[in-house]
Amino acid sequence: MPRSADLVVIGGGIVGLALADAWLTRTPADRVIVVDKEPALAAHASGRNSGVLHAGFYYAPDSLKARLTRQGNALLHEFCREQGVAVRETGKVVVAQSADQLPALLELQRRGTANGVDVELIDEQQLRELEPLARTHEQALWSPTTGVADPAAVVEALARRVRAKGGEVLLGSTVTGAGPRWVMTTSDGLISAGHIINAAGLHADVIAHWFGVGTEYRMLPFKGLYWYGSWAPGRLQRHVYPVPDARNPFLGVHLTVTVDGRAKIGPTAIPALWREDYGGLGGWKAQDTWEIARTFPRFLASDAHDVPGLIRSELPKYSRKHLVRQAAALVPSVRVEDFVTKGRVGVRAQLFHLPTRTLEMDFVVRPGQDSTHILNAVSPGWTSALAFADYVIDAVMA
Ligand SMILES: Cc1cc2nc3c(=O)[nH]c(=O)nc-3n(C[C@H](O)[C@H](O)[C@H](O)COP(=O)(O)OP(=O)(O)OC[C@H]3O[C@@H](n4cnc5c(N)ncnc54)[C@H](O)[C@@H]3O)c2cc1C
Repeated sequence: MPRSADLVVIGGGIVGLALADAWLTRTPADRVIVVDKEPALAAHASGRNSGVLHAGFYYAPDSLKARLTRQGNALLHEFCREQGVAVRETGKVVVAQSADQLPALLELQRRGTANGVDVELIDEQQLRELEPLARTHEQALWSPTTGVADPAAVVEALARRVRAKGGEVLLGSTVTGAGPRWVMTTSDGLISAGHIINAAGLHADVIAHWFGVGTEYRMLPFKGLYWYGSWAPGRLQRHVYPVPDARNPFLGVHLTVTVDGRAKIGPTAIPALWREDYGGLGGWKAQDTWEIARTFPRFLASDAHDVPGLIRSELPKYSRKHLVRQAAALVPSVRVEDFVTKGRVGVRAQLFHLPTRTLEMDFVVRPGQDSTHILNAVSPGWTSALAFADYVIDAVMA
């Protein structure tokens, strides 16, 4: 007899766990199983990110990101308080490097206000008071509700809450096949399921295709490298970000403060050669590289993004010295010799829409038969996870 569950979630990252948690809040007697292929939690994006609790001012006001990030930030703060997970209330400044970036800075303020996020335009003197190490051209944007936590600690606390609510988190179990109402796992064989949610991060497109869902999409992974500084904890007090290029879904090289006060530079958005391209040849899959090689020329031909510019700016960031010098444009006291400790590499599961040749900027959720597919849980998916899960489960149960 195969095992059965009301809900099986494929992927035990923050999104999969938040979805299981939201389902159990609504129907506590249901049998919910979260299946993850890794033997430990937070092995992929959910444990390999900056841990920044974003405020929600970057996103177009009609987007899901705009709607769910402010709410997700508040819910995650509350969750961390309840679960005893430390959050450092750093706030964040976005600094301009020249006069031609000021209109984009104003646009961020406009978006923040439209999204109900607390943001303030400040001058150079106010910036010096908030973060003496940062420099800007005339104006900067101040976001007091941006914070930081240890991303893996949050995922572990969420898994504990799912288990406490009666959910099962099966680790070290790969889903090798699935279709409406069934999932095949390497640990428990066949599991029959009332509903299946695909929250498989970098592999979500492949799993959706098993259901005939999202066949117009392919994953284009982008690699995020980080370097830690040797500065005394607390020397940098605020996250310092550049004005982003609105044509691309990435925020540009920035400096963040970790929850224990260390300064960190990154992440990059370098095209990855396979899905789990974290360094060396670990996790290399010929099929991934082949798929990416077939998809990349379409991305190169995209009018929607400045792809040549992105490649020209990102590839040199493989060089630590180059990357650190970029960060020095935001914080002049940054020295190449102070940032030598490599951080855990992350890979962004960025969804590419083949017909329009665009990188999806917003979260993408697609329904299938007795299933739901989370296809673009990109940044700030970690911040938004609890609000995003409420949004998805309300729609599934409606
Ligand atoms: C470099 C980087 C920096 C970022 N910075 C931030 C930030 O500061 N703030 C923020 O809010 N967001 C940030 N993000 C985004 C955030 O990390 C993601 O939005 C979020 O972690 C997505 O969670 P997830 O659960 O969808 O994915 P994941 O954490 O990747 O989880 C997917 C899970 O699915 C499992 N899986 C895959 N295939 C199978 C299978 N066949 N069978 C079983 N299990 C499977 C994997 O093992 C994995 O654990 C960043 C991302 C990156 C890469």
